Amino acid sequence: MDSFIDSETEKLAERAMSKIGRRLEIIDKITEHNQLKTLDAFRKNYVCESHFAETTGYGYGDRGRDVLDSVFADAVGAQSAFVRHTLTCGTHTLTVALFGLLRPGHKMLCVTGIPYDTILPTIGICGDGKKSLGGKEPFGGKGSLRDYGIEYRQTDLDINGEPDFDAISKALEKEKIDLVYIQRSRGYTLRPGLSVEKIGEIVKIVREKSDAYILVDNCYGEFAETCEPLDSGADLIAGSLIKNPGGGLARNGGYIAGSSKLVDLCACRATAPGLGAEVGASLGTLRSMFMGLFNAPHVTGEALKTAVFAAALFEEMGYETTPSSDDERYDIIQAIKLGSPEKLVAFCRGIQSGSPVDSFAAPEPWDMPGYDSKVIMAAGAFISGSSIELSADAPLRPPYAVWLQGGLNFHSAKFGVKLAAQAVRKASSR
Ligand SMILES: *Cc1c(COP(=O)(O)O)cnc(C)c1O
Repeated sequence: MDSFIDSETEKLAERAMSKIGRRLEIIDKITEHNQLKTLDAFRKNYVCESHFAETTGYGYGDRGRDVLDSVFADAVGAQSAFVRHTLTCGTHTLTVALFGLLRPGHKMLCVTGIPYDTILPTIGICGDGKKSLGGKEPFGGKGSLRDYGIEYRQTDLDINGEPDFDAISKALEKEKIDLVYIQRSRGYTLRPGLSVEKIGEIVKIVREKSDAYILVDNCYGEFAETCEPLDSGADLIAGSLIKNPGGGLARNGGYIAGSSKLVDLCACRATAPGLGAEVGASLGTLRSMFMGLFNAPHVTGEALKTAVFAAALFEEMGYETTPSSDDERYDIIQAIKLGSPEKLVAFCRGIQSGSPVDSFAAPEPWDMPGYDSKVIMAAGAFISGSSIELSADAPLRPPYAVWLQGGLNFHSAKFGVKLAAQAVRKASSR
């Protein structure tokens, strides 16, 4: 892989840059707003050096852990938060939240179409929302919500990929719903991300028709707008610390934030009903979680700029992008329809070669468990699997789209995107 950019790709990149000035300014404004909100949370909670100290064993009285919860809550507009390195990933965190809130006999309603792949086994459904994969019962008996007698309902997105307000109203009128589930980010689909404003519209409908809890899968959405779903009236948000809110520094972990009563229910599920948030040794992870949260608004801004630049550059090259370089953004994900498997491979190899870690590796498509086609990924990250760092994923199937996200700093990520563009241009001229 070339370590320089040819003049034609540079020219395209310059044209792309000249078109996105206004977008970059808007992102800077959002970043500044969120950065001050977050700084304010640190000041208000009197964060100090001793909060970074390590605890072991039960972790009783871990002052830093409690202060981190409180700072995090203030940064996302929550009453309380539960932020732990023992929440192993986003899927685990969302699972804890769902099991924290739901009881046997309850019904959950997802109003944003089929949820993110890895949540399906938690619910106990498959990709088509009803039947199981290949006639098997892949997730039965492993402790899914369905195993515990919790039923699943879903309203699909409309033809524009937006929530269907009529269908949501009807679903809430038809039967008692105990939890409404909203996925903010597009995940690995081509639907648009959901704005906090739209989430507010859903909240309004739900509040009129029921007393269901409202849980938002907030993955990839944190700090992408000046407000969070809690500001629009959702009860609870949850996500991963190796995405936006870990700022690229948290080495793992997840968070649940929102109303104190519900956060406590989730904490009781994560540990034990008599323990809640009062146990859990931080084992020296707090400094990087504090520092990551402090950096999160800025790093999210860098990732948003990277996404806008990638959209503009590939638009210059004639590709369809979603969101487009001039669309409003509600998450950090950029999809680009490349149109052939060769270009997907070239793109991912370009991104990989522009990474600070494992730049010499050449990604190969592989049969990933749970997917029906081969998948290729680029991930040259300091933190394994971290997708707030520049990364790309693509299933090798039509429309041969790649999903790009992250970028700890725009200057470096921009170079990675240029390498990807150059590699795609070479692949198309072959
Ligand atoms: C990443 C993601 C998850 C799951 O997170 P993992 O950390 O990969 O387990 C859930 N929902 C959405 C929308 C995501 O983007």
